[in-house]
Amino acid sequence: MAKPLIVGNWKMHKTVGEAVDFARRLRDALSANLDRSVAVAPPFTAIYPVAQVLKGSGIGVCAQNMHEKAAGAYTGEVSAPLLADAGCEYVIIGHSERRTYFGEGDDVVNRKIKAARGSGLKAICCIGETLQEREAGQTFSVIERQAKKGLRGLNAAEIGGVAIAYEPVWAIGTGKTATPDEARDVHLFIRDIVKGEYGEGITADLQVIYGGSVNPANIADLMARPEIGGVLVGGASLDIESFAKIVRF
Ligand code: PEP
Repeated sequence: MAKPLIVGNWKMHKTVGEAVDFARRLRDALSANLDRSVAVAPPFTAIYPVAQVLKGSGIGVCAQNMHEKAAGAYTGEVSAPLLADAGCEYVIIGHSERRTYFGEGDDVVNRKIKAARGSGLKAICCIGETLQEREAGQTFSVIERQAKKGLRGLNAAEIGGVAIAYEPVWAIGTGKTATPDEARDVHLFIRDIVKGEYGEGITADLQVIYGGSVNPANIADLMARPEIGGVLVGGASLDIESFAKIVRF
């Protein structure tokens, strides 16, 4: 079984100075041989300086997005090789904000995951239903479509470096959390899909994590479910005390 994975997604927050200060404090607050994998996802501008601070600490750096091509005339974009060079270990792909505001669909997500794995980055593939889809009873069909299309055609080495984040869109930044049992049911469903596509051997190490209004008060309950392999945290990862509490759940 993989260690629990806890990732803080800072979104479009923190200057370089603020990000570096946070990284120093997090590094000093956590022991080097943690029994969990921890990473922070700064905005692009702060990735390199944060990676410098966290070098050797065991805390990873994660990008929030990337372009599917390795290099070229794509003004304003950042590729997987550039992220790896700047010190990233992980990249978030298909976050619901990318899907909603930037029109990213399952095919783009699939190509980005392949590109990330090709550059040695671990990919955190976000999937989740909207409130409208949940109310229409489509949660499981949406999850199935996003998981199957997002992971389509990955080989064993590629899938080995992918974590899936179940992030119900209605729970992101809203203060509403899926109950641990609701999250567990979807996590089990996701594991079954991956097992069906890639076989039992893959799922033993597959990390399925939960995201959506995780905070210091609800983390223990969520992580008490063995099916929940970690968390992707937005708002509550911006404050060092709050994030450190989540990491130490
Ligand atoms: C996220 O952005 O991935 C997220 C889960 O945000 P929040 O924790 O603020 O709901």
